[in-house]
Amino acid sequence: MGTLSARVWNDILVSLRTQNPELSRPWLASLEPEGLAHGVIRVRSANSSHHYYLTQHCQAAFNEAAQRITGRLVTLEFVPPPVPESNSQPLSFEADEVPLNTDYTFANFVAGPCNRLPHAACVAVADSPGHVYNPLYIHGSAGLGKTHLLQAVSHELRSKGLEKVLYLSCETFTNHFVEAIERGALHQFRYRYRHVDALVIDDIQFLAARDRSREEFFHTFNTLYQARKQIVLSGDEAPNGIPSLEERLISRFNWGLVVRIDPPCLETRMAIVRKKASLRCADLPEDVVHFIAAAVESNTRELEGALTKVLATSQQFGGSMGLDIARKALGDHLAGPARQIDITDIVEAVTTRFGVRLADLQGKRRNRSIALPRQVCMFLARELTSLSLEEIGGYFGGRDHTTVLHAARTIASQQERDNDLQEKLQDLSRTIRRHMI
Ligand code: ADP
Ligand code: MG
Repeated sequence: MGTLSARVWNDILVSLRTQNPELSRPWLASLEPEGLAHGVIRVRSANSSHHYYLTQHCQAAFNEAAQRITGRLVTLEFVPPPVPESNSQPLSFEADEVPLNTDYTFANFVAGPCNRLPHAACVAVADSPGHVYNPLYIHGSAGLGKTHLLQAVSHELRSKGLEKVLYLSCETFTNHFVEAIERGALHQFRYRYRHVDALVIDDIQFLAARDRSREEFFHTFNTLYQARKQIVLSGDEAPNGIPSLEERLISRFNWGLVVRIDPPCLETRMAIVRKKASLRCADLPEDVVHFIAAAVESNTRELEGALTKVLATSQQFGGSMGLDIARKALGDHLAGPARQIDITDIVEAVTTRFGVRLADLQGKRRNRSIALPRQVCMFLARELTSLSLEEIGGYFGGRDHTTVLHAARTIASQQERDNDLQEKLQDLSRTIRRHMI
């Protein structure tokens, strides 16, 4: 097999990163091609998750990059990692499972007020499986990080040496069960599911009502629970909000810990955007980070989509990055109703509520009766509009961006201690949004 020079390989990686930033991952840098033969570049992965990622998502993009750089019709072949010496496990637990997503680790998860509890619970469970919270049940609406957390626990348990950590969606469990019945292989099915060190099942709301698989799940659960094996579950509702769950299962879920994951606040969304950008080796200015985080309020998956759009648009414009690029990329997001909130709407609501005048807010006075409503305006402008710190500062008498940042943080932390202020803010926010409809 011919060799491929390190420089050419490096150029291919750079080309992939610039043309397809959404596919780029830091670990791609550690890939080493085995060589080039008959127009095929062979690349072996370090582990099966990497291999899965490459074959599922990167084939076309890598082929294109390789052809661009070499000017020849070469393609890439991803070679799976070497299989370890055969072990004595009677059933392979990885054979028909989707490998864990390499991005879904604790290191890549941003903890904030909205998810501190579920995050801490998952870390605790990964630290001492079967002992702290069993079962652990995490619920919340779509796109808030349940799958990420469940897979992070699974990654962690596997890396600690637990051999049989079974992560799967509830659908897969049901499909396996139906298949086992059809093939008369219930015995193997039970062996497989009841001899695990930890069972992690995602999207339990798909457990069908009035179905034998539910009965089977119930017994699987009991067996593992009694053997003090860790069970982690996720659902889109709390256990008693899932119609197909029967009473005896609900009460069992409540033996452990049931925690909710909430939509992320602005600061957390910003941290997530930074994290996701760094995963893609992209460097974003802070005003762009804020812009993206402010444009997508409720759902972290969409937040990621918005980031991808911004990165792609930046590529179209030769790699330059700034607020203008972000605005171009997310034009349609900003057309949504929440986006039309204007700083004047905020000022109007705040001045009415606090009985002050706009001129006061824009002026120099700093006594508390003026400073507080001014800070509240800045806080709300940050939460409800996609204006940059500079733009907000500019509106309030040409104040510096650090002043705005300080104001927003002060109010954010004050409201945690001050119920009165918190109510006022919620009230104001409702009033402002009501005007938008
Ligand atoms: P769910 O399973 O609740 O529908 P996912 O776990 O699939 O949501 O999350 C959707 C996307 O958002 C994933 O790419 C995930 O990595 C990301 N995400 C969600 N919450 C966070 C967080 N706190 N930190 C980093 N990424 C997050
Ligand atoms: Mg999920």
